[in-house]
Amino acid sequence: MSEKKSSQISGFYKLSIEERLEKLKDFAGLNEQEIAVLKKESSLELKSADKMIENVIGTMPVPLGIATNFLINGENYLIPMATEEPSVIAAASNAARIARLKGGFTAGSDESIMIGQIQVTDLKNPDDAKNAVIANKQKILALANEQDPVLNKFGGGAKDIEVRILDKFIVVHLLVDCRDAMGANAVNTMAEAAAPLIEEITGGEVILKIISNLAVKRLARSSAVFDKEALGGEEVVDRIILAYKFAAKDPYRCATNNKGIMNGISSVVLATGNDTRAIEAGAHGYAALNGYSPLAKYRKNSDGDLVGEIELPMAVGLIGGATAVHPTAKINVKILGVKTARELEEVIASVGLAQNLAALRALSAEGIQRGHMKLHAKNIAKMAGADDRILDKVVEIMVRERKVRLDRAREIVEELKK
Ligand code: NAD
Repeated sequence: MSEKKSSQISGFYKLSIEERLEKLKDFAGLNEQEIAVLKKESSLELKSADKMIENVIGTMPVPLGIATNFLINGENYLIPMATEEPSVIAAASNAARIARLKGGFTAGSDESIMIGQIQVTDLKNPDDAKNAVIANKQKILALANEQDPVLNKFGGGAKDIEVRILDKFIVVHLLVDCRDAMGANAVNTMAEAAAPLIEEITGGEVILKIISNLAVKRLARSSAVFDKEALGGEEVVDRIILAYKFAAKDPYRCATNNKGIMNGISSVVLATGNDTRAIEAGAHGYAALNGYSPLAKYRKNSDGDLVGEIELPMAVGLIGGATAVHPTAKINVKILGVKTARELEEVIASVGLAQNLAALRALSAEGIQRGHMKLHAKNIAKMAGADDRILDKVVEIMVRERKVRLDRAREIVEELKK
């Protein structure tokens, strides 16, 4: 046995936060200052945090910022984003500023349909089992709907059933309209309730009954036109399209491309108290459906502007989860001003597109840098006394040498004047 103290602490969950911190102090050798950091109250008070998860010892604040400039379906939005990563919010705001020039983002979403999976094994004949489930569809749906009268009242509930045969077992998909909820609890409850009836119908044994995060029936999409001049010229448009094609052809690049999209998406998901892992699993699952692909696509339109389009599953809610509990999440939803889960889904998809555009533009920016360098060099050359006859030449030499400095400009001016 090592000298290290045992991590087996029975009844840790029963202790008060104070007592848990005592144990932790002893285990990890924390000093008073470190304990004080953990005990410090944030806008999420410790007693509220203690009700949200188990074994609470503190809260972990991340910076919360606001992305500006977003115009989505003609509406103005300020977007709360919770992230520890610098540049994300500035980049999103910048891309939204460019999108605004051509009318902003046009976004849409599917109905809030989630899939509950019920795995049925130990079947004599999977085809017969599938047919039996389909024949009893109404009975299964009715039983599922008995579980959530509130969801039914809001027009949601179990709406349909699909059956897939996988190897020797079948998977029943319960399709549930979750309205303004993310829906995991609602769907899991329904799937569990329907399981015994499905066993009876099929003569099989149900193993798993759980929501799928690959929410292909709950997609959100957004598109925007990005003005070529605002991007830095048609050359930049072409370079962004090449950068996109790189991601489309190469999973190593594509993972990073999609990570960049999630920089924006996860920040809004977290800020609104939604489940970042659910959204990330759904995004990457969807990206991998037909060979891992970029979640956003780009093309050039007849004006030479860049058109970007994004589509991905977006199971976020305004009811349930932490959204309605976390005090900052509640305020963030108010800042957004979204009235339905679908509106929130559309906003988040737009942020994902903005984030991706900003990243691709920065990455393929040699053209932009060159443009910037030229402007800068022109100013320096003028300061060094270059007149119109030699101005372009001085600029050209400095840019070629990558030495845009006043001392070098003076040397070149002198040489050329000779
Ligand atoms: P929930 O159960 O807290 O709230 C949803 C319920 O609110 C509905 O079932 C309905 O009864 C009620 N409701 C009231 N008004 C409504 C309206 N207008 N629209 C819809 N429903 C309304 O939350 P949930 O959304 O079912 O579950 C989300 C939580 O589940 C999250 O915290 C998530 O992290 C967690 N979770 C996720 C997974 C997963 O993603 N795989 C698995 C398990 C749990």
